[in-house]
Amino acid sequence: MAYTAPRGTVDLLPQDTRKWQYLEQLLRTIADLYNVKEIRPPMFEHTELFNRSVGDTSDIVTKEMYTFADKKGRSLTLRPEGTAGVARAYVENKLFAAADKPVKLYYMGPMFRYERPQKGRQRQFHQFGVEMLGVEDPALDVEAMLMAVTIVQSLGLKNVRLVVNTLGDAKSRQAHKEALKKHFEPYLGELCHDCQERFEKNPLRILDCKVDHDHPAMKNAPRTIDYLTDEAKAYFDQVLALLDDLEVSYVVDPNLVRGLDYYCHVVFEVISDDPILGAQSTLGGGGRYNSLIEELGGPATPGIGFAFGMERLVIALGDQLEEEEEHLDVYLMPLGEKGKNLAVQIQAMLRANGLSCDMDYQNRSMKAQFKTVDRMKANFAIIIGDDEVDQEVVNIKDTRTRNQETVALEDILAYLEKKMEE
Ligand code: AMP
Repeated sequence: MAYTAPRGTVDLLPQDTRKWQYLEQLLRTIADLYNVKEIRPPMFEHTELFNRSVGDTSDIVTKEMYTFADKKGRSLTLRPEGTAGVARAYVENKLFAAADKPVKLYYMGPMFRYERPQKGRQRQFHQFGVEMLGVEDPALDVEAMLMAVTIVQSLGLKNVRLVVNTLGDAKSRQAHKEALKKHFEPYLGELCHDCQERFEKNPLRILDCKVDHDHPAMKNAPRTIDYLTDEAKAYFDQVLALLDDLEVSYVVDPNLVRGLDYYCHVVFEVISDDPILGAQSTLGGGGRYNSLIEELGGPATPGIGFAFGMERLVIALGDQLEEEEEHLDVYLMPLGEKGKNLAVQIQAMLRANGLSCDMDYQNRSMKAQFKTVDRMKANFAIIIGDDEVDQEVVNIKDTRTRNQETVALEDILAYLEKKMEE
């Protein structure tokens, strides 16, 4: 039997992981700028956590979770998203007791959803996400949005757009919910099975439906923006005014709802029309959630967060890294058995002093080994023949200048360090 990776998963090979490492480093650097600290919750949680927080009418919970019983019969689920685990950890570890708010956290890692795989859609994919907990303030919402925009801009993407909307506070949401029910009731028989269930539990989600997307009733459905309380409207206006002050360009899209149960007030997405992304133009999004922490047993705690799909960010990186070629400091070229033993020792000494090294283990000719020096882009080649071993010297070739010199064993490190400074 030939083994293949499970459907919807991919192997990231060395030529890919270089890009991933670059992206991860970039994200960590931006997180540092915003004083956001890393949190690493587990990759599986009790199933109930996701039912409760993501919402049991969401597509994620109803169709896409990898749920299994462990040997004791507990129902566990591979995390389909990051916010629920972070919120659970925040409550369980009493992070709400911190004196300084907001508590700003980021996570980065694989997520699992049973979806139909296609370009840009996998069953194991990765997200980078940020949660800022403990403060409700338009200025913080704007900080989160600015961080999201900065990430995308730092990847060099063009035509980046911030799309924002508000779902309002609990009162506005309730009024909107009632209006939605009234609006969709006459068409209920024409909507898909899922939407009929959404109608009862969370009619806002009907607007997000992929099946009924083109149903005529969608076009003139009531918009959240028309049902805002004065307070909710004032909050949103402040967010927009701050974005204006910071000269962050945005568009308000009254149809942006983002269907997760826990959102309220500001929701946003970062979109780019850069051709490199093809059809997958939404890089990430998020919004404010003010009841999630309480719902999970913590004190009333407002929060705002966002998540990016990292596969899309890697696509956005394109071939920007091609210029920054990888290289090796030293390649050791033993030309005989005695040379090999010495090479092993020199290699260990150089690595202990911070130089990256590799050596020939295949007893190949000098010509073949020099080809490896080229392929690995080694800055120095150390050639060690049996004669050199007897004389306690090596030949060091600087591949940049093509100069070759004979160096005593005890001088190798000092010689290389001096050359590397030149
Ligand atoms: P969501 O948690 O559904 O709001 O997704 C946030 C982001 O994660 C999306 O904008 C995508 O970039 C990415 N994403 C979600 N699901 C997948 C998937 N199955 N495969 C790859 N990326 C995904």
